[in-house]
Amino acid sequence: MTTATLNATPALAWRNSFAELGPSFYTRLSPQPLPEPYWISRNAAMARELGLQDQWLASTEALDALVGNKWLPGSAPLASVYSGHQFGQWAGQLGDGRAILLGELHTSVGGQEIQLKGAGRTPYSRMGDGRAVLRSSIREYLCSEAMHALGIPTTRALCLAGSDASVRREEIETAAVVTRTAPSFIRFGHFEHFSYSGQPDELKKLADYVIDRFYPACHEEADPYAALLQAVSERTAHLMAAWQSVGFCHGVMNTDNMSILGLTIDYGPFQFLDAFDPGHICNHSDDQGRYAYNKQPNVAYWNLFCLGQALLPLIENQEKALAALEPYKTIFPQALQSKMRAKLGLPDQQADDSALIDSTFKLLASNQVDYTIFWRRLCGFTAQAGHEPVRDLFFDGESFNAWALQYSERIAHVDTGIRADLMLKINPKFVLRNHLGEASIRAAKLRDYSEVNDLLKVLQSPFDEHPEHDSMAGFPPDWAAGIEISCSS
Ligand code: AMP
Ligand code: MG
Repeated sequence: MTTATLNATPALAWRNSFAELGPSFYTRLSPQPLPEPYWISRNAAMARELGLQDQWLASTEALDALVGNKWLPGSAPLASVYSGHQFGQWAGQLGDGRAILLGELHTSVGGQEIQLKGAGRTPYSRMGDGRAVLRSSIREYLCSEAMHALGIPTTRALCLAGSDASVRREEIETAAVVTRTAPSFIRFGHFEHFSYSGQPDELKKLADYVIDRFYPACHEEADPYAALLQAVSERTAHLMAAWQSVGFCHGVMNTDNMSILGLTIDYGPFQFLDAFDPGHICNHSDDQGRYAYNKQPNVAYWNLFCLGQALLPLIENQEKALAALEPYKTIFPQALQSKMRAKLGLPDQQADDSALIDSTFKLLASNQVDYTIFWRRLCGFTAQAGHEPVRDLFFDGESFNAWALQYSERIAHVDTGIRADLMLKINPKFVLRNHLGEASIRAAKLRDYSEVNDLLKVLQSPFDEHPEHDSMAGFPPDWAAGIEISCSS
């Protein structure tokens, strides 16, 4: 890696506040060079938010810098250490095994950390090779932007580059690097690490850092650390409501994959539901179904409990820690209900809404209805238009009719225009279904990146019609059921 200043590289305003925490938190290192990189996709919208020129992002300098082959002046690459509970078991030390933090840019949308995922081995790689394969990188790149456009808190992705360097998984694949961004990549597992390795000073330093930067209101509270736990619980409750309402399964909700900012982080075997199946398991390695779709809200609570346990040396009182977690139990159902009311097009709240929401979920499950298509078609549900487009999705017409009656009564006094408006903004036409990602991956393996880029464009405005891309909003093909995605990526 060269330290020479790159002529074409703009003077970026690096701040690198995480690095100021000190060496107990990370190892400084250089990314491992990636042989002969090439562009797969660049996200112009994200580049603009970061204040990066399109022209620069398209340059060879940017390509080299963002796969880790050249140093960006002012950046200070490092891999951070964290621990975590994986599949319910304490896994001990983990850390950034293949993600390297370049530093933090000062931008118009606040401080944004820039991280290269798949940038080579680190002291935390354990048995791993430090690389990410093309298929999983495409999935992370597209899904993080799709989630952002759906209004769901998430890490973002600036660009995606590939290389013909081979990477061994179940078979030989090729490497890729996703440049991802977030205000912070700190996870619950960072707190668990310093707590369980007996480093109370570092634990406090980390908590103070997170409060200072992201939860400053906690400073005003009698116990800032209990307040932090409560604030994280609240954000996580909202995140779970967002996931459940859009039909998103994360697949690997280990505590090291839980963001302290309540962001969706570490896209692996995730899936948007096709047919609505509450017990759906998207991770092929999750034999017990620990991370099934309908378990996610409880798993998040379990993970928050681990965070609370990790913060105990600072909170010093178990009762207080438990009390800080308590609001999750009311905020999550309230937040979910408010999302579901909007999906149903109900601008106000009524006493029997939760019964209507429950019966909707039950009906979708018993008829295995396509989740995204149902909600989008429901936007056009009016007495005048007839119910056929929605009814056609159900094999049990009678149970649909009973539900449609209940729903029609509820919306009788809601203005049709207001309802449609509300619904079309929350019920996306497009989500990153597994088969769409898979088709773009197959094309990319043949060096055709147009599908990746078309998908990116559509997923960045998923509530718009994009009539030229109607096929991306259709039912999954039969082969979609055979797609198996596991942790190995
Ligand atoms: P994940 O399941 O991707 O969230 O990763 C869990 C842990 O394994 C983290 O510490 C990762 O950095 C690490 N890891 C996953 N894949 C690799 C890899 N190919 N090389 C090195 N570390 C990895
Ligand atoms: Mg992870």
